[in-house]
Amino acid sequence: MKNVYVIGIGLIGGSMALDIKKLYPETTIYGIDSNESHLNEALELHVVDEKASLRDISNADLLVLSVPVDASLQIVDDVLNNISDTTLVIDVGSTKQVFCKAVSNHPNRRNLLAMHPIAGTEHSGPKAAINGLFKNKTNIICEVEKTAFKLQEKALKLFSDLGLRIRYMNPEAHDKHIAYVSHLSHISSFMLGKTVIDKERNERDIFDMAGSGFESTVRLAKSSPEMWTPIFKQNKDNVLETLDEYIANLKHFKSLMEQDDFEAVYNEMKDTNYIKQILKGIE
Ligand code: NAP
Repeated sequence: MKNVYVIGIGLIGGSMALDIKKLYPETTIYGIDSNESHLNEALELHVVDEKASLRDISNADLLVLSVPVDASLQIVDDVLNNISDTTLVIDVGSTKQVFCKAVSNHPNRRNLLAMHPIAGTEHSGPKAAINGLFKNKTNIICEVEKTAFKLQEKALKLFSDLGLRIRYMNPEAHDKHIAYVSHLSHISSFMLGKTVIDKERNERDIFDMAGSGFESTVRLAKSSPEMWTPIFKQNKDNVLETLDEYIANLKHFKSLMEQDDFEAVYNEMKDTNYIKQILKGIE
């Protein structure tokens, strides 16, 4: 790979750029970003070698599209119009249904591989980019049959070099499942943070008592609203379904406490300890 372009040089695009440079040192990494200060930071941090624009991408061997999911919809046509026959475009967006539908009739759809690497942190921008982010993480690939076979091979070699494990899923199943394990967790963390912040306005001591349990549960509330609002918008129906179920569980737990049924409270928690086994299986 000689020329790699990364559009959106933040946490995901930047981390991919760092790993690609390490794996293939002869590659030139070009950064494209609407945020000029992020581009300058990425250059200073050696996350990218050069700045570029969408007009330059015709010589791209690989193009990583890693902007917020609403921005991807706005620029993907331009990207696919400006690449060569041999360019592989990978899209890393966290929602897949709307995106896959939007690109379905583009004449260069075969150049694109739609995917979602289940890897990340609560930080954003090029400073958040880290080496090895994708090692031993799962990469969900959607509609692989719509990508040219030769480009699939090229992509799978890259993913294997990055340490990604592959799962294939259709966009509908991806969005439904990810609503539970990622989108609901973020809402839950944001609203836990809000609940405590609202209380803290009157009782300033509360944060002195906030231990590591609070810190780890509320970690995702540091995530970027610019990134998460369009994700919730694009996956609204699935997210609303998960919220209905989560709210019903919270109400149930509250009613058990109101009824002083602490045996049932105990059992609820005991049953949920099963999560240890599930998480152990995917570590
Ligand atoms: P990020 O750190 O905020 O980086 C995104 C970059 O894209 C920012 O520099 C942003 O600038 C820039 N940008 C926004 N609109 C643009 C446009 N129209 N053209 C060019 N650049 C633009 O975000 P990220 O966490 O890397 O997420 C990138 C993608 O990966 C998203 O689609 C997200 O759903 C997906 N993803 C994220 C995670 C995660 O845990 N973070 C995991 C898997 C997949 P501004 O900051 O000025 O907006």
